[in-house]
Amino acid sequence: MGFRFRVAVGAYRISRRVTRGGGVSEGCLFLSAADHTNHSRISRRWHIGDHSHSHSHHHHHLGGKEADGVFKLGLAADVALAVGKGLAGYLSGSTAVIADAAHSVSDIVLSGVALWSFRAARVPKDKEHPYGHGKFESLGSLGISCMLLATAGGIAWHAVHVLQDLYVSTTDVINHSLVHQHHSHVHNGQHHGIDLDHPVLALSVTIMSILVKEGLYWITKRAGDREGSELMKANAWHHRADAVSSVVALIGIGSAILGVPFLDPLAGVVVSGMILKAGMGCGYHSLMELLDAGVPLPILLPIKQTILRVEGVKGCHQLRGRKAGSSLYLDVHIEVDPFLSVSAAHDIGENVRHEIQEFHEEVAEVFIHIDPSVSDLSNIKSGQQNNSNGFHERDVVALVHSIFSSQFPKMSLEHITWHSLQGKIFLQILVSMAPDTLIREAMEMAKKAEKEVLTGDCSLNQVSVQLRLGQQIPQFGQEKPNLDERRQES
Ligand SMILES: [Zn+2]
Ligand SMILES: [Zn+2]
Ligand SMILES: [Zn+2]
Repeated sequence: MGFRFRVAVGAYRISRRVTRGGGVSEGCLFLSAADHTNHSRISRRWHIGDHSHSHSHHHHHLGGKEADGVFKLGLAADVALAVGKGLAGYLSGSTAVIADAAHSVSDIVLSGVALWSFRAARVPKDKEHPYGHGKFESLGSLGISCMLLATAGGIAWHAVHVLQDLYVSTTDVINHSLVHQHHSHVHNGQHHGIDLDHPVLALSVTIMSILVKEGLYWITKRAGDREGSELMKANAWHHRADAVSSVVALIGIGSAILGVPFLDPLAGVVVSGMILKAGMGCGYHSLMELLDAGVPLPILLPIKQTILRVEGVKGCHQLRGRKAGSSLYLDVHIEVDPFLSVSAAHDIGENVRHEIQEFHEEVAEVFIHIDPSVSDLSNIKSGQQNNSNGFHERDVVALVHSIFSSQFPKMSLEHITWHSLQGKIFLQILVSMAPDTLIREAMEMAKKAEKEVLTGDCSLNQVSVQLRLGQQIPQFGQEKPNLDERRQES
């Protein structure tokens, strides 16, 4: 069977098809009720009581709450470190510890920015931001990445500085450390110094800070990997940058005490490289998110498989995605049976959306474009290529009306369905007839009518007259006057 019109509601239909060029195929009888129940099952499953269906569902891996907690934990730790260091520095009078406290204050600001941009990204879409606020997360991540780059630069600069000092004089390292620490405690500048006047206090504060910060790195990194959030990864690396720069400070002191001066700049260069790499990675990804770079194929392939699994989907193409923070925005063309009704095709689209959001929680929104699948059309004779347009459709409808009212008064015109596929036009004409008409007669009449319509407009590729036996399909919001009335008028 070449193709079937499947729009009618539960009715046996006699369908007769005439192909341009005179080839008449046998009329066929089939039960379309099966198709109908199939579609209504789909629609009932997802559209029950869902008259104003929403197309966007926001899912997040951690429901946002756990992730929010991770940011708050980082902020709280920075506050605790700042207060603890400030108190310890004030009580002991150690300027190095006070300077370290100042660094922790700048960490509070940065953790605050991270938490703020994370929350801003989760504000529901509004009139000003109809696509949501996900890019706030990318922006915050870019900011933190820039800070990481500055930190890496600062540590590298310090290492070069020490190397220069070593070149000039290899004996003055302890002095250097003592002098240097008094101008090195800016946040994005040099590593944290150790106050040698209060060695126990300074050392315990530094070690405590390293442990807390490295712990925060692991907690934030793990959450960031789960959430797919560049912001969390960047923030994790900020925690680690603080930890490793303190380690560099310790190594600097140790190397001075042990008399191995090159250890300090060496550690500085290694750590600077580490932070530089992380900062560039996070910064690059955030920038790509901001520039709407497409997500890589390994992320799209499983989504494509999910789409193709949905019942009624014959194919899909132009699947593309872009990230905004931890949310993924998709659009895709799906191919469906070209003779489905608009509502049935829409149901398939909704099923696709539902399945994607069920199995790929990072997907915030999917835009689905429905294409008629053209793979089934290869057996239809090609005719003139037409560009379907409304004006032409009106001409054809008028032609059909005049042919039927003048030459086939026994057939009462009920509905004309217009199919336009790859420039070919197929017309499906639904008629009703008096109950005492013989089916053989009706078929003869339909054959003639189809030929008349085909010869009447050379742009048509195929015409099929179909007899309605059961109930009429309700016509919602029809602007045109009832076809029966129009026929009676003429
Ligand atoms: Zn910091
Ligand atoms: Zn397409
Ligand atoms: Zn819809």
